Amino acid sequence: MNRGPIGTTLTVNGSSISGRGTFLDPGRLPDRKEVRIRKYLPFESRARLHALVSELAKRSMSYQQIQTQIFDSTRIWLSKGSISGWVRGIHNPTGGKNTFCAVASPELAYVIGVIAGDGNLNVHGYNYEMLLSVTDRDFAEEFSRCLAKILSRRNPYRVRRSEKRNRWIVQGSSVLLYQFLNRPWQNLKSFLEHCEECTAAFLRAFYDGEGCISARLLRLDNTQADILLYIQGLLRKLGIETTDLNRRKLAGTELIDPLNGRIYVRNKDCFDFRIRARSLSQFEQKVGFTITRKQQRLANALATRPRFHPSPSANRLIV
Ligand SMILES: [Zn+2]
Repeated sequence: MNRGPIGTTLTVNGSSISGRGTFLDPGRLPDRKEVRIRKYLPFESRARLHALVSELAKRSMSYQQIQTQIFDSTRIWLSKGSISGWVRGIHNPTGGKNTFCAVASPELAYVIGVIAGDGNLNVHGYNYEMLLSVTDRDFAEEFSRCLAKILSRRNPYRVRRSEKRNRWIVQGSSVLLYQFLNRPWQNLKSFLEHCEECTAAFLRAFYDGEGCISARLLRLDNTQADILLYIQGLLRKLGIETTDLNRRKLAGTELIDPLNGRIYVRNKDCFDFRIRARSLSQFEQKVGFTITRKQQRLANALATRPRFHPSPSANRLIV
């Protein structure tokens, strides 16, 4: 079975569609394998098949004629149920839940920030998903709300609790959003710099995931120095000052997974920087956290008087 050229042999309005269909020749009936392969077709191929079916249906072909014509030109055997669903508009390979338009908004910037930080992109068969698994429920809920907004869903995605992993989990699914997000973050800058609100939403998502606050130290950790440098620049635009980027030599050191006790060896160094103590209040006003636990710590930090008067050189002494 040759699965490779499926996507390339289909044409929507080209020469592969040859007028009225021919009746199915029993000698050319596809085997079962060919029927099953349909399940694993990538989204792009399904979309092309859908376009091809629509084109054939416009020529008043019967479902059986469409079925045969599709098989002749693509070697893919679609069920009449699928053809009927597509022709009558009941089903669509893009699916309602996959609807996504890349329009800048704070919600989209927040989702980009989550995926660049704590979140993940996964593919399981047909499911192209955005996943977040975290200890703070309010973080998961905000991700769910933003996903629902940009995917035009009436209701937010369910926030699921995993007792075993002690995590709140959100799984959203959309092949179009997946494809949009599955690229270097540098290519998404225009969405993050669209306006101050979008920039703040992106930063909030990143700080919700990777920010760490203890007393008056608000630190951001990540293994990617380039994204931290970019974030420093965005913070500067919002009038928030930071310390220089600091490299912590971690590659080669051991890490114990608290869940299963396994020991891992870190393969990357980690970078961090801090928000200058004198900019904490500006950070709270312009960015802040979605996570109440972190936001409360930030409020406490602002309520605490520094032990030393802040000055650019003495900033390190402030705790
Ligand atoms: Zn904006």
